[in-house]
Amino acid sequence: MAILCISFYKRRRKAVYQALYRKWRSRTFDEIVGQNNITSVLKKQTAEDRVSHAYLFCGTRGTGKTSSAKILAKAVNCEKPSNGNPCNDCYCCRSIDNATATDVLEIDAASNNRVADVRELIDEVVYPPSILKKRVYIIDEVHMLSDSAFNALLKTLEEPPEYVLFILATTELNQLPPTIISRCMRFDFKRIEPEILTGLLREITNKENIGINDDALQLISRLADGSARDAISLLDACSSGRGENDTLTLEQIQSQLGITNNDTIISLFGAIADKNVPQALLLIGQVHKSSKDLSVFMVDLIAFVRDLLIAKSLPSERERYLHERFFFSASAAGMLNGLLEAFTTEMLLYYSSVLEESLNSMGRFTVNKKTFFELTVIKLCDLSLSENPKALLARISELEKKLTEGSPSPRKTEPKITPLPNPPLIKEKKEAEERQLAAFPEILEELKPQADIYSLVRMTRMYEKDDSVIVYGDKFVLSILNQNNNIKMLESAVKSATGKAYTITFKEKSGICEDNTLLIDEITV
Ligand SMILES: [Zn+2]
Repeated sequence: MAILCISFYKRRRKAVYQALYRKWRSRTFDEIVGQNNITSVLKKQTAEDRVSHAYLFCGTRGTGKTSSAKILAKAVNCEKPSNGNPCNDCYCCRSIDNATATDVLEIDAASNNRVADVRELIDEVVYPPSILKKRVYIIDEVHMLSDSAFNALLKTLEEPPEYVLFILATTELNQLPPTIISRCMRFDFKRIEPEILTGLLREITNKENIGINDDALQLISRLADGSARDAISLLDACSSGRGENDTLTLEQIQSQLGITNNDTIISLFGAIADKNVPQALLLIGQVHKSSKDLSVFMVDLIAFVRDLLIAKSLPSERERYLHERFFFSASAAGMLNGLLEAFTTEMLLYYSSVLEESLNSMGRFTVNKKTFFELTVIKLCDLSLSENPKALLARISELEKKLTEGSPSPRKTEPKITPLPNPPLIKEKKEAEERQLAAFPEILEELKPQADIYSLVRMTRMYEKDDSVIVYGDKFVLSILNQNNNIKMLESAVKSATGKAYTITFKEKSGICEDNTLLIDEITV
């Protein structure tokens, strides 16, 4: 999710970055959000004229480091500072703002990291500022300097002339030599709380006349992951295509950023809890239609199951955790609590393993993702479809749960969960005059152009008896193959491969099949 957002943000960056983020860049310490403990110290120091000679601002991107550095540069030079804040109106403030002040130098260490660059800078340090009170060096991404460049800087940092102020900023404190860190007054900028970002965004949308509802703003704030810059840029990107009187909704933002609506995920798991296969398939159809990438959706489902697991293990914190993690409508909230009750931990662990396995296979298969997704969900709806030990555990825990709840009437689908009939193993089939169909490889070859069918048929075994070909396979595989068009395709492939017109019948491979491991190996090749 986050990757999608960042790439979206990057794509839009050129068009919108200049607009809202530049416009709303903080210009005083009081306007910096979420870093009160830092800005209050800086304000006090400038107000009392007790500014240090070197500062180190560290923290993740977009948390206010560069803005604070610029404000500090203005505050120490301002002609009419107020309570430690720059006035933003005097000649000094304006010249720093429009980057014409020759005494304030901003250096991007990422592109000026050589020792020669630092020497050039140090050579100038000996001259007093030409116009302003202090010459300020703002070195951004300072961790990018080479070792020799750091060494060159070190001596000046130790004993700079009193008219010089160094402000170093970095996102990677661990890459700085300790000697540099120890010579600076260090401030750690923390990630900004989502609630604070929401407040900031609300202020901007009010002033910019951007219609957007609270849920949508909260989503943007959380996606920004503590960065005010990302939050404003995302808001800008999301609102740029909107009509003048439109109000942006949570759904619109989710669809723009390619994020699954949690209501859909919750409904899907509701259908899985009810073992309602048609409803689950319908929901997948909707997601597919919305042109969302199904692999991404699968990742969202895995994350959701993980969150349910965590929520289950945190009974006292559950409410808060769910609120922080999910965006959903009020109706979905009730359903979510129902899900937590309906699923046992074992069931959730099983869901998670099936989903992860499917995600892996999805990446390797050329098979139609939608078909594969449908098979996975059918598997999730009916625990009896898998002989995997985790599924058995999940089934046992589901039955135990029903017993402790004293549920007298089993679900309609209960027969699927009751012990399976004596497993008709493949060995038995051989005895009953069924012969393995020798032309199976040729049939597969015939089907290769139909990638979906091909990969499903690979999961089956074919036997012949009289004039019919019996296809053995898992219930969920057969349910797809046993559809008119697919049967025709199979018949024609069998005919081409064997030269004989067989009728096709399907038999469920139940019980613990000796070929099971073999089949799984093949699937995951
Ligand atoms: Zn000023």
